[in-house]
Amino acid sequence: MDCLFCKIAAHEVESDIIYEDDKVIAFLDINPVNHGHTLVVPKKHSEQLLELPDELAEPVIATIKKIMRALMNLPDVEGVNVMQNNYEAAGQVVPHVHFHVIPRKKGDGHRHWPGIGYAEGEAALMTMKLKDGIK
Ligand code: 5GP
Ligand code: ZN
Repeated sequence: MDCLFCKIAAHEVESDIIYEDDKVIAFLDINPVNHGHTLVVPKKHSEQLLELPDELAEPVIATIKKIMRALMNLPDVEGVNVMQNNYEAAGQVVPHVHFHVIPRKKGDGHRHWPGIGYAEGEAALMTMKLKDGIK
């Protein structure tokens, strides 16, 4: 399969690997938001989070926590964002599920996304629609 992150997981494409085991690999993002920005990737190919087998969720989250601990041990790291993009519309560029683990510090210049609020009744309507969608 012609998938960049499958190739990185197979060591066919070079990366700065921080951690790996039989199920998960973690390596530096080539274009970091802040230095230390790490990608945590299940080695088995699935495109989006919906396709990730539940049994891989635990090792993936455990790896995210390992990276987060290592980042928080750095003297200039005060917080960590864990981000995950699904589908092009949400900013996914590499179609192999991955989690961004991004070190943050106060005043680093990165903003949270803006909130748009709810008009009267809109939150109740949305709650109903989403509850209907829970299977
Ligand atoms: P996405 O937008 O799909 O959530 O994130 C893809 C990420 O992969 C981007 O942050 C990008 O910098 C990173 N990336 C793209 N190509 C490479 C590569 O060849 N090596 C590494 N280490 N990261 C990459
Ligand atoms: Zn893949």
